[in-house]
Amino acid sequence: MSSKNIFSRSLSTPKRLLMMSVLLGLLCALIIGGSTSFWLHHKRQEAYSVLVNDIRDYMSTFFDDLAITAQTIQPLTTQKCSEVSAQLTYNAAFNVNVRAFLLVRDGVAYCSSATGEMRKSVKDMVPSLKTNKLIDLALISGTPMLPTKPAIAVWYRHPQIKDTGVFATLNISLTPYLLYTARQRDITGTALVVGDKALTTFFPRVTPVTELQFNPVRKTLLRGYPMAVWLFGDDWPHEDIVLAALAGLGSGLLFAFACGSFLFLRQRTGKEILTGISRGQFYPVYQPIIKASNLKTAGVEVLMRWQHPTAGMIPPDAFIAFAEAQNLIVPLTRHLFTLITADASTLSALLPKGSRLSVNLAPGHLHAPEFKDDVLNFSASLPEDHFQVVFEITERDMLKAEEAPALFDWLHQHGFEIAVDDFGTGHSALIYLERFKLDYLKIDRGFVNTIGQDTVTAPVLDAVLTLAERLNMTTVAEGVETQEQAKWLIDRGVNYLQGYWFSRPLMLEQLKSRDPLRE
Ligand code: C2E
Ligand code: CA
Ligand code: CA
Repeated sequence: MSSKNIFSRSLSTPKRLLMMSVLLGLLCALIIGGSTSFWLHHKRQEAYSVLVNDIRDYMSTFFDDLAITAQTIQPLTTQKCSEVSAQLTYNAAFNVNVRAFLLVRDGVAYCSSATGEMRKSVKDMVPSLKTNKLIDLALISGTPMLPTKPAIAVWYRHPQIKDTGVFATLNISLTPYLLYTARQRDITGTALVVGDKALTTFFPRVTPVTELQFNPVRKTLLRGYPMAVWLFGDDWPHEDIVLAALAGLGSGLLFAFACGSFLFLRQRTGKEILTGISRGQFYPVYQPIIKASNLKTAGVEVLMRWQHPTAGMIPPDAFIAFAEAQNLIVPLTRHLFTLITADASTLSALLPKGSRLSVNLAPGHLHAPEFKDDVLNFSASLPEDHFQVVFEITERDMLKAEEAPALFDWLHQHGFEIAVDDFGTGHSALIYLERFKLDYLKIDRGFVNTIGQDTVTAPVLDAVLTLAERLNMTTVAEGVETQEQAKWLIDRGVNYLQGYWFSRPLMLEQLKSRDPLRE
């Protein structure tokens, strides 16, 4: 018997259970916390990308609009300032973000939309601006009119003429984005970066990039312009970490509690069955089965009892189902087999040769890999050729089994008989009964109960008996409690009777001293 590992299951202490629950809770906390933080992080990353692209698009549109204006101004660079300054001023006035347009010829600004005629080298004004390029940008700390207000200097070169073109100074307002980002607590600021200088939401002046203390979470370049947009923020904001930790902690605790309760309950009751087995709290009782034709005992049905030290007598309806749920039905049935074997010689002295020894089987055992070995061992341990072993299987359990026909054939080949237990309570179709070639139909005591009563189920018993007759099956009526019921059943041709009217299930000692007059 491989009960060693089964018994070792019962050795798990509450401490081990607690540890297991804590570990499972921890695992759950890690998974939930981890995935929450991953999800929050992912959401935030998405929001950052959207934001930085919005700012880039805003800037791109801005420069594209400006390029169109610059294109219309470009032809003026070949003319005198006095002739074109009015148009230049007009263009600047209608472009809200432009402080001034300057016309440049040979690297020298000679005409301003703000101050008219002038003469100043672009190199002197903005040393970093490259007038040989078609487009260039620079950040400047101020303009002659607004010396303390940073601006962007933009250069649009004349497509054909070297060092000649339109120079514009712009007010760049990050206000809309400042407002936008201010609402997102995780964004700390934005920056427009040109070369090694930056205009940021942190300072009201142009700042060397090296002075920016933190690394941006996002960087993106403007298409066609040497400018980048940087976004500063928190990759793992405090609130995300707290939220993920709370989610992890909450679910971990819940899960640990659920696991703990489940494992504890499972272990406790499962353990009790195993303890019951090892301490001999289970014992069999035998209920005589009476042959209708001569009212003699034709055999017994073995029924299990559990005398629990504190809970008292536990009915089999309760513990059999539980043992099944706990995967303990195999050890429990094996134990019953052992107990029957121990009683077998006494039984064989009380019951004549050929008596039926009926044992209930649970589906969990029927489909267990050890089943065949178990029943062969059981029958081998009984006195040779004395008992006809009958296995009782409920109608419900038969229908579940796809492999049932093969298994039933095997049982028949090895000399066992099969009874359909609780017949009439399941949903058997005739076809199953015909196909399975079963030996006995045990009519459920619910039907027997209706004999002599004017209930709606009474006609069902008639139908069940007609069916049994047609199938040519041997019938056993369960739960016969009165003489009237016994007579009625015998008159209807039922083959065997079982019930309190004849005998209650008896312990071996009681069976020995049974009043034979009852038969
Ligand atoms: P079952 O197989 O239908 O067993 C017959 C049940 O009817 C038994 O209840 C028996 O004590 C009861 N009984 C017998 N005659 C009368 C009667 O005249 N009137 C009334 N009211 N009841 C009567 P028990 O022993 O409580 O068993 C209940 C069920 O538990 C059994 O129903 C069977 O399904 C299951 N069971 C019992 N022992 C075992 C076992 O060793 N293995 C398995 N798998 N199941 C078992
Ligand atoms: Ca039974
Ligand atoms: Ca039954």
